Amino acid sequence: MTQAQTKSASVNQIEVEALGRLWQERLRLQDWDITVRLTRASEFDDKSTGGECDVFIAKQCALIRVQDPIDWHELPKNQACHSWDLEYTIVHEMLHIHMRESEPDGDDHDSPVWRAHERAIHRIAEALLKAYRP
Ligand SMILES: [Zn+2]
Repeated sequence: MTQAQTKSASVNQIEVEALGRLWQERLRLQDWDITVRLTRASEFDDKSTGGECDVFIAKQCALIRVQDPIDWHELPKNQACHSWDLEYTIVHEMLHIHMRESEPDGDDHDSPVWRAHERAIHRIAEALLKAYRP
């Protein structure tokens, strides 16, 4: 990753890592090896997402990629309220680590059971941020 890719007007990789460490501790995920990486929109398969989490249970490690705010104009308007909140995205993706083993079967993320799963994660992330933010 070049320096130009890691820089943005409002946030940088160091700040994203600090937020990651903070929430890793708050969510009691210290026994996990979690990398939180600021990522340009062009590097996501799904360009409409604000974040992605790859979980490797056997190795107890995870890679969370959050979209660099510099590219937020790429996100659909209806996702703006949450995806444009970097801290929300980190919390949401970390909750996926906790919930990984209770995820619904299948890859159809538009199925009712997947939607319910995502909704639960969304509500918990919102509640946590509300509780921790002044
Ligand atoms: Zn999710």
